[in-house]
Order: sequence, then structure tokens, then C-alpha cells
Amino acid sequence: MARALVIGGSVGGLMAGNLLRKAGWDVTIFERARGDLATRGAGLGVSRELAEVLQRCGARFDGTGGAPNRGYVWMERDGSLAFEHPRENITSAWQRVYKPLREITPPEIYRQGKNLLRVEQDGQSVTAIFEDGTRESGDLLVAADGVYSTVRAQYLPDVEPHYVNYVAWRGIVEEADIPAWAREAIAGYVVNCFPEGEQLLTMAVPGADEDIRPGHRRFYAIWYRPAKGDRLREMFTDASGKHHGIAIPPPLIQQHFIDEVRRDAPVRLPPAAAEVIKAAPTLLLQAISDMESPQLVFGRVAIMGDAAFIARPHSAAGVSKAALDAACLADELSRHGSIDAALTSYNALRLEFGRSLVAHARYLGAYLEGVDETRDPRKIIEDYGAPHLLHDVPLPAEQ
Ligand SMILES: Cc1cc2nc3c(=O)[nH]c(=O)nc-3n(C[C@H](O)[C@H](O)[C@H](O)COP(=O)(O)OP(=O)(O)OC[C@H]3O[C@@H](n4cnc5c(N)ncnc54)[C@H](O)[C@@H]3O)c2cc1C
Repeated sequence: MARALVIGGSVGGLMAGNLLRKAGWDVTIFERARGDLATRGAGLGVSRELAEVLQRCGARFDGTGGAPNRGYVWMERDGSLAFEHPRENITSAWQRVYKPLREITPPEIYRQGKNLLRVEQDGQSVTAIFEDGTRESGDLLVAADGVYSTVRAQYLPDVEPHYVNYVAWRGIVEEADIPAWAREAIAGYVVNCFPEGEQLLTMAVPGADEDIRPGHRRFYAIWYRPAKGDRLREMFTDASGKHHGIAIPPPLIQQHFIDEVRRDAPVRLPPAAAEVIKAAPTLLLQAISDMESPQLVFGRVAIMGDAAFIARPHSAAGVSKAALDAACLADELSRHGSIDAALTSYNALRLEFGRSLVAHARYLGAYLEGVDETRDPRKIIEDYGAPHLLHDVPLPAEQ
């Protein structure tokens, strides 16, 4: 039986691992982190493609996997709606995808605390070398090790995320913790707000125990704000003076930056959206970047998911792209007689998709870079996500 080594046990690695396992491969998934990853993440755009791949994996995910929305709206500072774009969709949470994938993954093939250091290969087989001194060999290595991929750094050392001069603040709050008038104002829609040069989105997502009933959901907000130069450096520097590049661990964000966001919310946002920022117990900071790999296959190594491409979050497609990468890899391996021919095909197909996604997300974010300040928010709302590449999940029929 052919053996696949999957590096990275997040959603991308879990989907690839499970699809290959179903196709008859001997699969082992190696994840650096210990413990449960389900506490990670927050709001997530769900596509029909993602739902289909999850079902193919055997993971439970249906119309109840996310909170239903009737469309996207532009809410003005005074709370009035300037524009409504009807487009049914569901919004979910990262753990709502991760947890069902973990449930279907046999524990004996999921190894945690395994930090990959480097890869060696000889044309027929590939070997993963881990920090704990162990080595594992197989016929194929799938690199699903995320944006700071060790595997990509080995084969494409010059490809790195490129910061695009704005950050995102993310917060999530229990529905019960915001006033009823605010919930009523924002529920049922993906709400967009456009303070000058900035953008905030808020949406309902499943609550504890995956509950999507009104009153039991959560509200998630993501606020894009420009940041450059010394101010940017300071934002990613902790209280001890240590600078963290463009990825600072949440507990190390200096409190005065969080206080500033909370102070600005009622001044710059519609009152209902400001309530989400105000009540969110923590605010996370993320530097927004683009990244494109010029090649996805290196001998018997295939890179996928965030390791391969980073599209800005406006595409709402990170997890869907990882799902389609995983499905394409499994399909090409089943379709072709040889692993090498399958990987050549995977490389061509997924390069094209990844490039289109990054380009579309760049277009959606151009307003935030000040490139196109006159862009009409209506157009941004209509083009939100990647509607030319992915399909919305139909809402379940009314009971
Ligand atoms: C903490 C976190 C929170 C996220 N939250 C959201 C969200 O709220 N909404 C959203 O749309 N998207 C979110 N994403 C991004 C989204 O998960 C990705 O776009 C998408 O899932 C692609 O995932 P991936 O599996 O390719 O990479 P990732 O999800 O980044 O996973 C990579 C995995 O590889 C592991 N790894 C890295 N290096 C090594 C190594 N050397 N050896 C072994 N293992 C390694 C990491 O620990 C990680 O588990 C989040 C990602 C992370 C990591």
C-alpha cells in the first residue's frame, strides 16, 4: 500500500489525510502542536464546495453547520442600511469544520508534537525528518503546514507572505452578551460598515455546542484598519520590547492598542456593530498579507492550503481552498497511473485556482490600501467572497 506523510494536522491536512485514506493510502498526519486546536479561529465563510468535500471525507456537516444569512448589507454610521445585496449564505466557525474532521480521523494516524524540520527525497521515496530525531518515509509528502510552511521554506525560500499595509482586529462575542436591539439590527445578514479608509464586517456564527438558534449564537466581527511604518512595528512589539514580525501571539498584544480599538468603535462604527467590538472578551490582531507560490510540486512533495497561497480574508475562502486542494490531490492520484503524473496535473490545476483567488481578494482589499478610494462599497459587497470560484450553500428549507 502506498504511504502518504501529511505534515500539518489542521483542517487542510485533515481533509487531505482522510480523502487519501478513503482512496486506499496508508496515511499518517504529523502535527507540530500538542493539545486541541479547536480553540483556534473564529468566523468562516462556508461554500458548497467545502460542504461537499467534508461530506466526502465522512465528516458531519450539513445546512445546520452555520448560521443562515439572507444577504449582505452596508450599514451606515447612524445604523441605517445604505444597500442590501440579497445572497443567501451561511457563516460558520473554524472549529465547526475542524471538530468533525478530528472525529473521523483514527487517533493512531494523527500524531501530535511532531515538528518537521526538513524533507529528503530520492526520486521514488520521500523522508520527513522531525525535531525529536525521528524519520518517517513514504511515497508522497503532503505539506499542509500553513502560512509559515517549513516545507515551502525549504523548496521556495524566497516565497513569503507580503504585508499589504492593513491589519484586521477580530473579536467574537456570545449573543447573550450584546443588547437585544443590537442583535436585531445585525442578525440575518453579513453586515458591512465602511468608516473612512476602513471596513468592518460582522456576522452570526454557531455558538457553544454548534447551536445556531437565535439567542444561542455568537457574533463575530473583523475590522480592517490601515497600519504602516513605526506604528505597525509598535503594534507587533510586546511590552518587553520584543518585536514579533507580522504575527504576534494574542496574549502579547499591548493593551493600549486593544483599548484604542474599543474606544474608536462607538465613534467610527454604527452602534450595533460597535457593541460587538465593545463586548468581545478578547481582540486578536492579524497582519493582512498576500502570498503566491510559483510551483506546488517538488518531486514527491505537494504543497497545499495556506502553505501554497494566502488570499486576503475578503475572499472568505481559506478553508474552501484547502478543501479543494485536498480533493484535487486525491482525485488526480486516483485518476493517474503514476504518482508523478498525478502531481504534475495537481500542480497545474491548483496554481490556476490559487492565483485567481489571490487576485480577487487583492481587488476586494484595494480600497483599504488607499489604491482605489473612490470604489463604491456596493461593488465591494456584491463581489465579496469568491462568487466566480465558489458557490454559496443553499439555506435549509423553512420548517
Ligand atoms: C490559529 C488559526 C486560526 C484560524 N482562524 C481562521 C478563521 O477564524 N477563519 C478562517 O477563515 N480561517 C482561519 N484560519 C485559516 C484557515 O484555517 C486556513 O486558511 C485554512 O484552514 C488552510 O488551513 P491549512 O490546514 O492549510 O493551514 P493551517 O490551518 O494554518 O494549519 C497548518 C498546521 O500545520 C502545523 N504545522 C506548521 N508547521 C509545522 C511543522 N513544521 N511540522 C508539523 N506541523 C506543522 C500547524 O501547527 C497547523 O496546525 C486559521 C488558521 C489558524 C492556524
